Amino acid sequence: MKSVTKKQILGLLEELEEEGVDYIENFCSSPETSVNKAEMLENLFQKNRTCMKCRLGETRKNYVFGEGNPGAQILFIGEAPGRDEDLIGKPFVGRAGKLLNDIIEKGMKIKREDVYICNILKCRPPENRDPLPDEVDMCIETLITQINIIDPKIICALGRHAASALLKKGQKLSDYRGKVHYFRSYPVIVTYHPSALLRNPNLKKPTWEDIKILLSIAQGCPPEETGAW
Ligand code: SF4
Repeated sequence: MKSVTKKQILGLLEELEEEGVDYIENFCSSPETSVNKAEMLENLFQKNRTCMKCRLGETRKNYVFGEGNPGAQILFIGEAPGRDEDLIGKPFVGRAGKLLNDIIEKGMKIKREDVYICNILKCRPPENRDPLPDEVDMCIETLITQINIIDPKIICALGRHAASALLKKGQKLSDYRGKVHYFRSYPVIVTYHPSALLRNPNLKKPTWEDIKILLSIAQGCPPEETGAW
């Protein structure tokens, strides 16, 4: 695929907006590949849906595995299900989920069903407290298998806890942002969790800067040419 820069991506999105084009099509692998991946993800879900490896298994209402296109090129990873996700069994379905939908569909011009969305933890921590290190250690193997099956072009870690679980631990969000990191061979961009944007709308602008880097890599721009600082 021909490389595109972050600036070209922004220009492309503006053109699509002006022309009234709603979505960029074909943003995932072929239907045949996706079917195989869907089967593998279903097997992984069935194998782990009754998991009780950590204390969160006792308090969850639903195991929240993840959803989206199994052949997605972009994988969003949050930290853990919240109240709405726990009740419904799907990731990012509350107010923060609606905002993430807007970022994906209105901003990136990609249908939500053409990306994949999941969390580090598959069960809700009580009162939405932060994930504990032992819970992350117990749960992350499932996520690693999900990543290997989906084999995305790029991962977007939403918030400090997701970034810390995937990358060098214990940094502030500002230390993670603006750089292309790697989880194994996968480029990772870190941005704010949508809940943070709900609390502080001023974070929408820097989030969009991160999303432009993400889109340019997903569209074939080599990570080192994104202009990330
Ligand atoms: S959070 Fe993960 S490790 Fe803990 S019980 Fe749920 S699925 Fe198992």
